[in-house]
Amino acid sequence: MRLLWSLALLLVLASAATLKDSPKARYDGYAVYRLSVKNKLQLAVVEQLSQLSSKYNIWKDYDEHSQQVHIMVAPAELQHFQALVSLHAISSEQIIENVQDLIDAEQVTPAADSAPFGWTRYYELAEIEAWLDSVLAAYPTVTEEFVVGQSYEGRTIRGIKISHKAGNPGIFIESNIHAREWITSASATWFINELLTSQEPAVRSLADSYDWHIVPVFNVDGFAYSHAKNRMWRKTRQPHATNECIGVDANRNFDSHWLENNGASSNPCSETFAGDVPGSEPEAKALTEYLQKIANEFSVYISFHSYGQYLLSPYGHTKEEFPDNYDDLLQIGEAFATAIEALPYGTAYRYGSTADVLYVATGTSVDWVYNELNKKVAFTIEYRDQGRYGFLLPPVQILPNCQELMAGMLALIGKTQELGYL
Ligand SMILES: [Zn+2]
Repeated sequence: MRLLWSLALLLVLASAATLKDSPKARYDGYAVYRLSVKNKLQLAVVEQLSQLSSKYNIWKDYDEHSQQVHIMVAPAELQHFQALVSLHAISSEQIIENVQDLIDAEQVTPAADSAPFGWTRYYELAEIEAWLDSVLAAYPTVTEEFVVGQSYEGRTIRGIKISHKAGNPGIFIESNIHAREWITSASATWFINELLTSQEPAVRSLADSYDWHIVPVFNVDGFAYSHAKNRMWRKTRQPHATNECIGVDANRNFDSHWLENNGASSNPCSETFAGDVPGSEPEAKALTEYLQKIANEFSVYISFHSYGQYLLSPYGHTKEEFPDNYDDLLQIGEAFATAIEALPYGTAYRYGSTADVLYVATGTSVDWVYNELNKKVAFTIEYRDQGRYGFLLPPVQILPNCQELMAGMLALIGKTQELGYL
């Protein structure tokens, strides 16, 4: 009897502990491996692992060009993982030894950084929004706030429109739809700042000649969660009706070839869960409604992501077909990649359609805008790097990445204009 009572008490204590606010996830001893996958059996093994969401986490999905997968492995699984890859003769290489070390390093603020906001560290949502407010207050004649809508948890998805004169063609930038891709919102805020403050003639022309609609943090719930609770969070934060796994990959939730061709997952625990229906996520639904409302105000759509160094155009749902204007999109891609590679860093970007250059991905915002709003210039940028740091790009690389963004963007918009789309 006493034993039963103790057991019951233990259970009560345990459930009370889970009810309490959960501590921040730590990644001590978590390693990231680059797997080289040579055949379908090996790929099936890796896909099986990726379904075990608490033990394994896909950082970069398999693509046919590199034939590689980047996968994070929990320390308790390392032995099993190594046995499994060796059993199936999958060659593996450790690219990150301890994820927590990189998370800790990312939080170190340089001693010289006393500015309230800058680009030598990453900021939380509240800090980014306070900065946005200060920018709106400092440049009242050329900036204007807009609201895309509300997130599942009730946050406001905010954007800034920068317009130096009436009648400019518009460019829409959506950033940080994937929560853990922090370099994307850092690059978006830097880009906003450049459009408002740069004295470089080429940047001034970019700022003066176009209307910019920029959402620096789109997945506000996920981004807040990635700061407060789990650095590696990717999805939205809406619970599932019947499964305990939370959230949807917002960039697989749009109503364009939704869930076709294995371009997303129907498993709520997958990092690429498409949702139970298209537009199930309030964020994706709000964005489609907002973009429909302002459809005649923009001609170019760009979505910021990391990582891998790609400029990706439609289509995502198939590599058997290409858009009508694919030759133009390739020309724009070549201009973008050439401009970035010419910088002293020599960073190489690949370009082409998502399905051809990377992998099949369905229900993305970029494909939805291309297919449903008929915006013929729509791209995904996948920023640095190629896996050395992955999502945990060190703060010292924020500014170099931003320089690459500007060089690439000048070339991208220049070529887009030359081809008659702007
Ligand atoms: Zn992404």
